[in-house]
Amino acid sequence: MDTIRVTVWGEFRHELQDAKVAAIYPKGMHEAIADGLRADPRLSVRTATLDQPEHGLTDDVLAATDVLTWWGHVAHDEVSDGVVERVKARVLDGMGLIVLHSGHFSKIFKALMGTTCNLKWREAGERERIWIIEPGHPIAEGLGEYFELEQEEMYGERFDIPAPETLVMVSWFKGGEVFRSGCCYTRGKGRIFYFRPGHETYPTYYDPNVRRVIANAVCWAAQRETPQVKFGNYPPREPLP
Ligand code: ZN
Repeated sequence: MDTIRVTVWGEFRHELQDAKVAAIYPKGMHEAIADGLRADPRLSVRTATLDQPEHGLTDDVLAATDVLTWWGHVAHDEVSDGVVERVKARVLDGMGLIVLHSGHFSKIFKALMGTTCNLKWREAGERERIWIIEPGHPIAEGLGEYFELEQEEMYGERFDIPAPETLVMVSWFKGGEVFRSGCCYTRGKGRIFYFRPGHETYPTYYDPNVRRVIANAVCWAAQRETPQVKFGNYPPREPLP
């Protein structure tokens, strides 16, 4: 298989405004996510951020992207509707999309899900145990029965999403909640994976299991050669009387 071209998109605001976040992610969360992916020889990785022209997601960049990863939080509303439409069109045409953590409230995820994508949350630095409930799924490759993050933000059900086509992971939190934390979808020709962990004040994107999941998800979601789709008025394949 050819190299998979990945664009890691980051909002890149917390890191510039909050010293605690900057101490964990001095080059930005997007660069930590990208570094995890760069360790995989199957992938070629670039980054893009909100404050670049067109949020770094021009037609040319998207045309050269097989999988886009998305992390945003405080500035979802600053993402232009035009760029969201452009990304959505590319997903429907086969580009993979990996939505991370607080990206659950991004315009692009809500547009593709069609629901509020709302959830419960609590920031108490509690343990998260992520159970792999579909061990045969490509996104589970190389993982154990479960893995743990010592400190994470809690996300709890109900998570207002359409029922995933495949639910690969379920999280348990020390405070007692559970959450569907690894959700697969198809929209048009595109594959979408939502992956829960990644609050900005914890070093989650350095965790080897988290990095493994994201790399596996990128490979699973990568755009494939698929039949050309034709719509509209259509001549018969055989002569009709
Ligand atoms: Zn968070």
